[in-house]
Amino acid sequence: MGHEGRLTEQPAEVTAVATAFSRLLRLDGVWARGVTFREHAVVVTVTLRRRLLHCPECCFSTSARHDARPVESSWRHLDLGTRRLEIRARLRRLACPSHGVRTEGVPFARAGSRFTRDFEDLVGSLATTADETTTRRLVRIDWDTVGRIIVRVMDDKLDPDRLEDLFEIGVDEVSWRRRHKYITLVSNHQKNQVVWGKEGRDTATLDAFIDELGPERAGHIAAVSMDMSAGYAKSVCKDGHSPGALICYDPYHVVALATKALDVVRRQHWQEMRRADELGARQFKGARWCLLKNPENLDQDRRLPYGDCAVLAAPSGVPTA
Ligand SMILES: [Zn+2]
Repeated sequence: MGHEGRLTEQPAEVTAVATAFSRLLRLDGVWARGVTFREHAVVVTVTLRRRLLHCPECCFSTSARHDARPVESSWRHLDLGTRRLEIRARLRRLACPSHGVRTEGVPFARAGSRFTRDFEDLVGSLATTADETTTRRLVRIDWDTVGRIIVRVMDDKLDPDRLEDLFEIGVDEVSWRRRHKYITLVSNHQKNQVVWGKEGRDTATLDAFIDELGPERAGHIAAVSMDMSAGYAKSVCKDGHSPGALICYDPYHVVALATKALDVVRRQHWQEMRRADELGARQFKGARWCLLKNPENLDQDRRLPYGDCAVLAAPSGVPTA
């Protein structure tokens, strides 16, 4: 639409459109008062329903305005089709005993943000599932802004009790930039929830987590699952950390080690067989995949070499399944 038209000239229509927008936007605690259509954007002017002024940072509220000066404010909301949607409101100022003179908070946006809560939640959700380019193109904002939004969404949604009652935890490393950068993530196995993260993947990284936990909460940890790198285990076992905790290695790494050891024994056995029994050795050579399977999953013809190797491998302490 090439023209710009305020709908304030026709009061009945204005009321109808404003009511429609109030329902359409589903913004908490406001009435839509006016709608302006522009070429690339729709601007909706709203007023707060509540009379009390709320501090944007804390739960303080008051009926007293600090001064009569209005503060023109705007936020970007979820797009309306191909157009941007801008919310505008004239806010008041209050004096909070803790935070000083501030512009009042609004129920539909986080403190200090120029985006509505719905818009920020969408960006936060996209950032967990889509890559940087996709997120930027879909919401049409730069990556730094996405970063600031993520911080606000995280601060808002993070469970403040996430470091309480940790008994069985998992420590994992995740890499990015083609394994040049690493982050350590700690999860609560009982709640299946990531509770902490920090860049790095060594003893000092996990030390930072346990320091944040403090000695009392760290002392309650009964089991820690991890990969087989020594750094994490070293941190867990330090005095004042969780020296009593059971270290549990990820089954994937244990199975990988067992498979490797089995292969070493199989090769040794094959070399010995070659010298004594050429035919048996040839049959045994093809048994590698049989060895890696559980015996009950093998068909009758393939059980022979497995049984042979199981007997020979057992004295070396190699698991046979
Ligand atoms: Zn305050």
